[in-house]
Amino acid sequence: MEAYIYDQMLLSHQMQSHPKEFEGKELSAKEEAKTLEDQNENLEHELQALKENLARNKQQEDASRKRLEELKRENNDLAHRVEDPWQRVKDKQRDPCRLINPLRNKTCKPFDKLLLQLIKSTYVNLDSEGYDDMSVIHKVVKPFTVLEMQDMRDRYILDPLYGTILMALDKIDDWDFNVFSVQAALNGDDHASLPFQEKGGALFVTFYALFWKYDLFKKFNIDEQVALNWVSAVEAGYHGNPYHNSMHAADVLHVTHYILSKGGLIERCQLSDKMILSALFSAAIHDFDHPGINNNFHIKTRSHLATLYNDRSVLENLHVSSVFELIKNPAFNILASLSEDQWREVREVVVEMVLATDMGLHGKYVAMMKTRLQERADFLQKDDKILALAMALKMADISNCGRPQEIYLRWSGKISDEFYQQGDRERNLGLACSPFMDRTQPAIAKGQISFMNYIVIPFFEQISELLPNMRVSVDCAEGNKTYWAQNDDS
Ligand code: AMP
Ligand code: ZN
Repeated sequence: MEAYIYDQMLLSHQMQSHPKEFEGKELSAKEEAKTLEDQNENLEHELQALKENLARNKQQEDASRKRLEELKRENNDLAHRVEDPWQRVKDKQRDPCRLINPLRNKTCKPFDKLLLQLIKSTYVNLDSEGYDDMSVIHKVVKPFTVLEMQDMRDRYILDPLYGTILMALDKIDDWDFNVFSVQAALNGDDHASLPFQEKGGALFVTFYALFWKYDLFKKFNIDEQVALNWVSAVEAGYHGNPYHNSMHAADVLHVTHYILSKGGLIERCQLSDKMILSALFSAAIHDFDHPGINNNFHIKTRSHLATLYNDRSVLENLHVSSVFELIKNPAFNILASLSEDQWREVREVVVEMVLATDMGLHGKYVAMMKTRLQERADFLQKDDKILALAMALKMADISNCGRPQEIYLRWSGKISDEFYQQGDRERNLGLACSPFMDRTQPAIAKGQISFMNYIVIPFFEQISELLPNMRVSVDCAEGNKTYWAQNDDS
């Protein structure tokens, strides 16, 4: 410390005794400081320029990466183009197909052949009259002989996949057929797997079983591979919504079959095979490409589809027109072997049936049916048959309310989930939540009881006037209504 004080005193003494020398030093120190300041400024500029350069490079890199991805995608598309028969048809069409292939570059799901053999052999076998193993009808899936099938059933009946499906299909003619068990056996669950179902799900299996049960392949000379392509694409065209998914289509397909057969519709209206084909086709496709939000939402938000279909039966128009678009492609044209007249009639019935599922038109259909039931006892004219089929699909569509309670409660849970999802979207858009769609004000019991009282039960009673065997649905609906009266959630 002493040394430092001594140095400072010495320096001060020198500055006073030789001021010039120190002025020079101060000047050069100032100059040095100025140079350093300039250098610093230059470095700051350089740093700024480098930062800007880096940002530009980053932007460029992002743009290049995006472009690379685009090119990769284009490249991929081109590769698919070469092998994708869908694209070839699209290229050939004057009127370009607006539907994207739901299976992407595939034409069929890689189904489990043994499973289809087991299903097919439940309805046809190689011993039946007119079938032999060379038959073109068995080109894709060869059924077993009666003896082979007995052996297969014994072998597989306890198998978690084949056994579960065979046992579920044993009940396909019954009111308690359960699509959930078919779906879970094939895909592990009945919700998360719905957008994937690589090898097919409940719709695939139910459709295949029923088409063989009614022998439609043979009656209309339908190519089995094309039918499998068609159902693969139809199933893949359903979204993984909580309720409006391919499992709902499978359920509606099954109930339509029930109404036709045990319900007595085929007999009551003397329906032709063509009408049966139309009915099963309609049920399978009736909610194709459903986005999980209803017509009202589309209309309120002035969506593209609402504009396209002028706010009229927006989704129902989408379902039916998309599938007719799909079958323009020969690979998916399940109706290819029909004559022009047959094709026209099937189309007429399908359009009528699917458009009738718009619940906005429910009152109109009930009134039409009421008038018609009062007019004549028989139901045999062409218009009567089409009306009866439309009513059958409408009934199948809301039949969950009249099914055994275990099945009904699963569906009512799923539709509530979907309603709440729509309510969330409405809230996020600043719109009022539609009735029973606000999860912050749950009222499932109230909603279900109102739906049963005002729509379901009166409608099922009307159908039971035409088809007395369908009273089972009224009895179940009454039971399900009682459940909610005892389990109010609001
Ligand atoms: P779809 O949309 O073609 O399935 O038409 C049937 C409509 O009926 C559904 O969209 C629902 O609005 C309604 N619905 C069916 N089942 C129920 C249910 N359990 N509770 C309330 N609404 C239902
Ligand atoms: Zn539906």
